[in-house]
Amino acid sequence: MTWHVDAEDLRAYAQGELAPPRLWSADTHLLACADCRARLAAVSDPVALDAGWERLDAELDVPRRGLTEALLVRLGVADHVARLLTATPVLRGSWLTAVVLVLVTTVGVVHTADSPTFFLALAPLLPLAGVALSYGPALDPTYEMAVVSPVHGFKLLMIRTVAVLTTALGLNGLATLALPAYGLRALAWLLPALALTTTGLALASRLGPVLAPSLVAGAWVALLATARASGDGATLAPFTAAGQGAAAGVAVLAALLLFAARDRFDLSHRSAV
Ligand SMILES: [Zn+2]
Repeated sequence: MTWHVDAEDLRAYAQGELAPPRLWSADTHLLACADCRARLAAVSDPVALDAGWERLDAELDVPRRGLTEALLVRLGVADHVARLLTATPVLRGSWLTAVVLVLVTTVGVVHTADSPTFFLALAPLLPLAGVALSYGPALDPTYEMAVVSPVHGFKLLMIRTVAVLTTALGLNGLATLALPAYGLRALAWLLPALALTTTGLALASRLGPVLAPSLVAGAWVALLATARASGDGATLAPFTAAGQGAAAGVAVLAALLLFAARDRFDLSHRSAV
C-alpha cells in the first residue's frame, strides 16, 4: 500500500470535519490500514473517535448492495469491482435519462428532416462522452475509492469503459431500430463511435481526461463539416464504405496505442492523489 491518509486529513477526520470525497477515501483506507488507524487514534480525542467509528459502522451496516450489484456478484464479479461498477455515475439514472432524451430528440429530427445524417453524426459522440465522464476526479465521486481500491488502474478503466460503452452502444442500437426506413445505413454510426472512443482513451493517457475527448469530439465535428462542404450532400464521407473502413482502421490503431500506454493510467492515478 503506497498511499496513506495525510496528517491534516486525519486531524479533520478525527474532528468529524473531513468532507467528501476525501472522507470516503479516508473511510475506505482506514478499514484496510492498521497504521493509519493507529495514527488516527493518536490524534483523536476518544469521544470524537467513537462518534466517527459509530458513523462508519452505521454506513457499513446499511444493506447497500443493490439489485445490479448483487447480480454482478452472483455472475462471479469480485465484490469491490461490482461496487465500483454500480457506483459509476454514468451507469446511473440521470445520465442514462439524458442520453435517452438526446436519442429520442435525434430520432424525431431524423423523421422530420427525412435524412439520417444528424443521427449518424451525433450517435458516435454519446459513447465518447459516457466513457469520458466515467473516469477523472472532477466528475466521479468514486474516483478516490478507485484510487485506493486494489484494482489495477488500467484494469479498472477497462472494466468501466466496457460497461459504459456497452450501455451507450445498446441505447444507440435501440434508437437505430426506430429508424427502420434507412436499413443498415442507420448503423453507420457504430464504427465511428468505436473509433472516437478508443482515440479519446488513447489520447487521455497524454492529454488528460478532459482535453482528449474534447479534442476528439471537435475533430469529429470538423470532419463532418468538411465532408458536408465538399461532398454532394447525399451521404457524408464518414458514412460511405471507404469512411467506414477508415473508422475501423482508426479504432484498431487507437486500441493498440491505448494498450501500449496502459502503464500511464496507473501513474496518472497515483499522481492525482
Ligand atoms: Zn494507511
